[in-house]
Amino acid sequence: MGTGKPGRHRAVFLDRDGVINRNVVNPATGECESPLAVDDFEFAPGAFDAMRELQVAGFLLFLVSNQPNYAKGKSSLEVLGSIHEKFLAGLAEEGIGFAAFYYCFHHSQGKVAGYSGPCECRKPSPHFLFRASDEFDVDLDRSWMVGDRSTDVECGKAAGTKTIFIHAGQTATEIAAQPDGTAPHLSAAVRLILNSE
Ligand SMILES: [Mg+2]
Ligand SMILES: [Zn+2]
Repeated sequence: MGTGKPGRHRAVFLDRDGVINRNVVNPATGECESPLAVDDFEFAPGAFDAMRELQVAGFLLFLVSNQPNYAKGKSSLEVLGSIHEKFLAGLAEEGIGFAAFYYCFHHSQGKVAGYSGPCECRKPSPHFLFRASDEFDVDLDRSWMVGDRSTDVECGKAAGTKTIFIHAGQTATEIAAQPDGTAPHLSAAVRLILNSE
């Protein structure tokens, strides 16, 4: 937990799927889901420039991503790891640096031993934001959480950050968590953040 002292760094905590990369439509259910195969992982248009602008403005970047598909028996850790490697390669090619990548691989209703049941890190838990605050001296009050689920907004609020909800494709109920701002994609979210300075 935080020390109560204001941190020195400002940060933007980014959800991954639906923010940095596109969600993928599952033909079986019609639902927009996290990529389940390496080929499904594609950076969203404008995402590199948006992340670079945050970096240039002095924000530390953190990834905070729930990845319950292994716990649910829908993916392997190897495939999820390969998707992460593709993500890292794209960032490296574009010269974008993250301070840390935080993944929760658990799910309360999962069926894989060791990954199922309650955990302390799954969003909306602010666990990883507090950890970043401690480890990287982040001032959460002057930081932002950006995501495309109400749980992302709840997570940011629980940690004391400002929040932006990416609303592409969501229904009004997803906005019920009352974010500080809403945007159709990451580029627009970054404009809101930089304009609020
Ligand atoms: Mg998402
Ligand atoms: Zn977890």
